[in-house]
Amino acid sequence: MKRTCLALAAALAVIAAAAAAWPQAAKPAAAPLSARYEELTAPDFSRAVARSGGTCIVPLGILEKHGAHLPLGTDLIDCREVSLRAAASEYAIVFPPYFVGQIFEAKHQPGTIAYGSRMMLDFLQQTCDELARNGLKKIILVNGHGGNDAFLHYFCQSQLETPRDYVVYLFDPAYDEATEALLDKMRKTTVDGHAGEEETSVMLAHRPELVRLDRAKDESGEDQKRQAGLKNAYTGIWWYAAQPNHYRGDGSAGNAAFGQALLEAETGALVEMIRSVKKDMVTPEIQKKFFDDAAKPLETKPFVKK
Ligand SMILES: [Zn+2]
Repeated sequence: MKRTCLALAAALAVIAAAAAAWPQAAKPAAAPLSARYEELTAPDFSRAVARSGGTCIVPLGILEKHGAHLPLGTDLIDCREVSLRAAASEYAIVFPPYFVGQIFEAKHQPGTIAYGSRMMLDFLQQTCDELARNGLKKIILVNGHGGNDAFLHYFCQSQLETPRDYVVYLFDPAYDEATEALLDKMRKTTVDGHAGEEETSVMLAHRPELVRLDRAKDESGEDQKRQAGLKNAYTGIWWYAAQPNHYRGDGSAGNAAFGQALLEAETGALVEMIRSVKKDMVTPEIQKKFFDDAAKPLETKPFVKK
């Protein structure tokens, strides 16, 4: 027994000495940080906030009919793809697909989830508040859904309602003549706007298995012009009046090459925006000055010459 113990001790000493002589195994390299919010662990989230400069992208889409041939979540799927591609070039945290938005005009179609107006505003405001509470003070809204346009511009304006320590930026790519000329050369149809050539092409470029191109002509995507007699007027029913099938254009013209060009153009513009947002010190300062001044308007006296 004793001899066995001694032998064992000697063997262990040899192993320990050998181990000490071995070069230390290199520590595994730090795993790359995912840009996907939901994939980060809590410690990695803190690192991601620092690495992103406190910048978060919220990709906004909706659940609505996209013709008979594209998935209900087309806008969610496409704009998160653009967001993730951009974040791969210029790091930012990308929030999960955000589906609470304005879509009353498609309530007559199967699968539409149309939350109420106040819910939309509160949900997005509280999402931004929570992101900011977690250190994400620069929030980029990337919108993939046309029906959200007026809502999101109003949401941005409403950020001046009460003081806050973060800034909301809406992705709003400037018109680029060279890019548009390139895209126009590839474009086959003249009427587009919902589940038409563009959206079908983008989906074909990155998620072709979700496209049922054989159904693209099952319904008409033509403008019905039912309010043609109404002049110089806007009504909330305009879209339904024009496109009762909630389809505008001709998805059968879609092709992956055009979709790839669209994705690249959008991604390039978003990368440029993320870089400028990260560097932007002006907007937070101006916003703070505005809130300070708004708390004491009579003391700012902008109309009195000194
Ligand atoms: Zn869409």
